[in-house]
Amino acid sequence: MKNYDCEISARLLELDAQVMKDCAPCFERIEKTQFHNRQRVLRAFTDNRIAASLLGSSTGYGFGDSGRDRLDKLFADIVGAPDALCRTNFMSGTHALSVALFALLRPGDLLLCATGAPYDTLRGVIGGSGVGSLAEFGVGYEQLEMRNGAIDLAALAAAAPRAKVVHIQRSRGYAARAALSCGEIEQAAAVAKKANPNVTVMVDNCYGEFCESREPTAAGADLMAGSLIKNAGGAVAQTGGYVAGRADLVELCGHRLTAPGTGRELGSSPAGLRETYLGLYFAPCVVEQALKTSVYAARLFSLLGYETSPAFDAPRGDIVTAVRLKTPAKLIAFCEAVQARSPVDSFAAPEPWPMPGYECDIIMAAGAFTAGSSIELSCDAPLREPYDVYMQGGVHLDYSRAALLYAAQRVLTEEKK
Ligand SMILES: *Cc1c(COP(=O)(O)O)cnc(C)c1O
Repeated sequence: MKNYDCEISARLLELDAQVMKDCAPCFERIEKTQFHNRQRVLRAFTDNRIAASLLGSSTGYGFGDSGRDRLDKLFADIVGAPDALCRTNFMSGTHALSVALFALLRPGDLLLCATGAPYDTLRGVIGGSGVGSLAEFGVGYEQLEMRNGAIDLAALAAAAPRAKVVHIQRSRGYAARAALSCGEIEQAAAVAKKANPNVTVMVDNCYGEFCESREPTAAGADLMAGSLIKNAGGAVAQTGGYVAGRADLVELCGHRLTAPGTGRELGSSPAGLRETYLGLYFAPCVVEQALKTSVYAARLFSLLGYETSPAFDAPRGDIVTAVRLKTPAKLIAFCEAVQARSPVDSFAAPEPWPMPGYECDIIMAAGAFTAGSSIELSCDAPLREPYDVYMQGGVHLDYSRAALLYAAQRVLTEEKK
């Protein structure tokens, strides 16, 4: 590689060559999965007869917006679910998950989280006070801690009979455990349903889309939700989220997304749906690059002596890699470097701040074309022991390499101080 970045040492460039060599077998596995995923996406586009006339905009109520309705159907087919809402009207992944939980749960019901404490932004949805949370509507909550990175199936079987909804978070969030595979989700769903045939299994699929050759809704989950400014938006969608799963449950989500009694018939897209369709089409291509970025980062930092999770050659159920940097100085240097090698706002300096919905100060590097997009190369970290940085995204491995080599350089400089 010709060195365009004079701040990266010759030693690191040599290491880059080693990393690429070590990662080759993993890259090949990723390419195989994504060849399959692109076929499933293309097949859904042709089967659903996606036409140019569907890509445009609608206004007002959005009654009869056939582009929007066809997008729902397309998304459902891609993820192997009976039905879906794939909408620009979802503000975020948290919004989609919140809509799903409020759609499924009624006063007196119990929400059982099988994967420990849920993602930080869901804590307000479940137990917040003075915000109209599930707890304030009389919905009970229990959580099962994970054991050695896996769902505690015995505890799940024992608790499921009390639950209306079992919530499974596929990605790690800010926890020190690997993402769950669809196989593990399938096993947990079967255990929960054997113990309680009426239970609804709901999956937080954020960061998981297209990482494997199937999705949780094709592996026993009744419903799943996620964000379109992560994997499923292919770095093209400018906003939005989705829910997908059993048709009766998706219908209920429609009534929660708009208004009870009105449902999914409403929702216009004044900016048009071209980016949402295009993003979905690109999603397996972009997830391929994000997975390669994740593998590359894990190998690079493990060769530099840092613990990473997962290991570079471990199977992946999401696009996230955590690097244990151990000191706040190295963590901040890593984030500054990723920001400095971003296409947008490269000159900005990320600083730790008390982000709403999160429990301690967070530092984030995100120089993205879409604000807050984490399918573009980004990293974030809570400022707390053991100073793990969580990185994800990357629209192309080569751009990611440039940023990660610079991050490695900055971390090495901190080591010498
Ligand atoms: C990102 C994320 C969310 C929330 O999505 P937003 O779009 O940021 O609101 C929820 N759960 C997990 C596991 C996530 O990674």
